[in-house]
Amino acid sequence: MSLLITNIKQLIQVHEHNTTILKGSDMKNLPVIENAYLYIENDTIIEYGNMTDCEGFDAETTIDATGKLVLPSWCDSHTHIVYAGDRTSEFVDRINGLSYADIAHKGGGILNSAKKLQDTSEDELYEQSLKRLNELIAMGTGAVEIKTGYGLTVDAELKMLKVIKRLKQASLAKIIPTLLAAHAIPEAYKSNKQDYINYITEELIPKAAELNIANYVDVFCEEGYFDIKDTDAILEAGKTYNLQPKIHVNQFNILGGIALGVKHNALSVDHLEEINDEDIEALKGSDTIAVALPGCSYFLSIPYTQARKIIDAGLPLAIATDYNPGSSPSGNMNFIVSAACVKLKLTPEEAINAATVNGAYAMGISNMYGSITRGKKANLIITKAMNHYSEIPYAFAHNPIEQVIVNGQLL
Ligand SMILES: [Zn+2]
Repeated sequence: MSLLITNIKQLIQVHEHNTTILKGSDMKNLPVIENAYLYIENDTIIEYGNMTDCEGFDAETTIDATGKLVLPSWCDSHTHIVYAGDRTSEFVDRINGLSYADIAHKGGGILNSAKKLQDTSEDELYEQSLKRLNELIAMGTGAVEIKTGYGLTVDAELKMLKVIKRLKQASLAKIIPTLLAAHAIPEAYKSNKQDYINYITEELIPKAAELNIANYVDVFCEEGYFDIKDTDAILEAGKTYNLQPKIHVNQFNILGGIALGVKHNALSVDHLEEINDEDIEALKGSDTIAVALPGCSYFLSIPYTQARKIIDAGLPLAIATDYNPGSSPSGNMNFIVSAACVKLKLTPEEAINAATVNGAYAMGISNMYGSITRGKKANLIITKAMNHYSEIPYAFAHNPIEQVIVNGQLL
């Protein structure tokens, strides 16, 4: 199969050489070819350039993109889209004055999702999750990380991982599974958290590793959930089974989780709504990327990640949706790119870099995804007619997308 896209007003995020991460001031640069073409074969980007050089292609399909932009699909490196039911009633509780902590206290929150998920069959869970996945692909996402963490028992966590595996097999999008058994302390272990940690490290992680069904291990390192000592033990166990960490840290409190993540060579440290100078220092010189989740800050009305502090320190930043039923029930990366500009004070160039190359890095796939580079996967967005890529974040909550190409296939 071959596909030629012609007359592209702006071909965005073009890298001659494979770029796998953008840090600090490099995030300000977004390479663009005006009046461009792009040629793909099967699932791969083969050639691109200026329209004046577009000769000799015998493509099966040609798309005339006059007036439209083409960019790499969004890379959403942090989601929880496998869940059962929703938590609309808690949303209403919060409007009426209850905090996220109050809701968790009265049996809501993650434990509420866990109960629903445990009572839902694998097939039903798969159907609900596939619907969400297809919705976010239609909104321009071509690669997505999906976490467990609403199972909280060996059976239910493995049920989630099996659903993620089925999504991977059924979908053209790139899917990366992460084991987040340490998302909350289950009711049964309320008075003995250590037993749950042992259960994760001695039963769950080895079982997931044996099935070769997860790429990463995650922990919700936060007051009232898993402290530094607990997180250290879980990451250590993950390491034994070749599960690199991607962790939730500094959402509400600074516990030292960022330095701990760096110590364990975490691929990413996510949230960072609260961050201090020691955290910034810990990230310097590491291979760990910070991931901001502005949809969660928006929905919970909590502070936004101090992204300027991170980028201006010369560090890389990715942005992701954190799509989940409790704190960010949206998988719309277009909105996240806009929120990154409006609320995190990123320039459009920085926001698009954070959502493409750096998002791919935060999933460990930036050698094949996140930029327009010969040999990379053809995961692309064709926008509606617009003059400049800055219109994507500018026109917030609008849908900028006309068509998406995932794994070389026009959807
Ligand atoms: Zn999350």
